Amino acid sequence: MNVPLSSPDIGSRERELINEVLDSNILSIGPKVELFERMIADYLGVQEAVAVNSGTSGLHLAVRALGIGEGDEVITSPFSFIASSNCILFERAKPVFVDIDPLTLNLDPSGIEAKITSKTKAILPIHVFGRPADMDRIMEIAGRYRLAVIEDACEAIGAQYHGKMVGSASDAAVFAFYPNKQITTGEGGVIATNSSKLAGLCRSMRNQGRSDDSIWLNHCRLGYNYRLSELNAALGIAQMERIDEILARREAVASAYHAKLIGVKGVTIPNIEDENKKSWFVYIIQLDPGIDRNYVMKYLHENGVDCRPYFQPIHLQPFYRENFGYREGDYSNTEKAASSTLAIPFFNNLTEQQMDYVVEVLAQALSQEQESMLSLSSSTITA
Ligand SMILES: *Cc1c(COP(=O)(O)O)cnc(C)c1O
Repeated sequence: MNVPLSSPDIGSRERELINEVLDSNILSIGPKVELFERMIADYLGVQEAVAVNSGTSGLHLAVRALGIGEGDEVITSPFSFIASSNCILFERAKPVFVDIDPLTLNLDPSGIEAKITSKTKAILPIHVFGRPADMDRIMEIAGRYRLAVIEDACEAIGAQYHGKMVGSASDAAVFAFYPNKQITTGEGGVIATNSSKLAGLCRSMRNQGRSDDSIWLNHCRLGYNYRLSELNAALGIAQMERIDEILARREAVASAYHAKLIGVKGVTIPNIEDENKKSWFVYIIQLDPGIDRNYVMKYLHENGVDCRPYFQPIHLQPFYRENFGYREGDYSNTEKAASSTLAIPFFNNLTEQQMDYVVEVLAQALSQEQESMLSLSSSTITA
């Protein structure tokens, strides 16, 4: 049996809406993008949603629209996907890392104030794996120091913080729709905001810096081509029509995994005890200290079960080491979490049978790993 890490959930409605676009002859800048934006804004309970061609583009525009530039500092987490930090570098500003809370894997607010300087302009928290970051404390600190807040909500559509949708509390929140996310547009993203000024700036910058006076070739600022096509938006509309069903299905898959994994020795299942509602993006287990993760991964791959270490710390990526001189030990909670986490297959249509197979192979991998460790240590003793 082969079980992929993720798999998009595309149905007949997705095909129907994409065909509608093809038949309409309007492949870009049209009604589907507008409708998709409205659906997202209404779902999140924000005033504006600006669709773009990736989550990374959305983060870049949010940073730029908030006026963050050369020499500015932005406080963020090293336990994330690289884009949440790269978007700061795009504008020649500096990411300043604060370590995570090992329990939630989110940026630890108690570490923020020590890192604030006269150059700090913003805080950029990530809702890691769909679990809401501690926004009350982050917004309180930001308010006291007059800092902007950009939420990287790329993994968290539908998550709720204190009963409100994640992405509605800050200056701007960015969501992403790559095929492994909860909902997909193929490639795509959205900037959610309650500021019409910020939304207008983002709309202009995604479209080559055009002014909104509808004179087509009038470029009033530096801009990009970060537009989302009508085809991608059509996919997004079909997915948004059943987002509640999709998120419920993912939650059911996660619960089923919990029940199956609870007896497997050496594995910690994701912590779900939280006052907030998580949106299930990936299913991440943590292996006990001392377990050789590479051995386990190799065994899983050899038996057709895809898996991946998730995340690799940003500060230890070659580009960051070379340019900023980061070293192992700089952010110990992040490094500790990163060395034990493992993403196992997780998607809407994962079957009971596939889950059983994944858990069976994982349990085998762990017991074989123990045996090989034992024989290794006994051979050292006899030698
Ligand atoms: C997916 C993701 C992004 C954006 O990714 P794109 O591939 O550019 O859409 C940004 N941050 C995090 C944490 C993500 O998981």
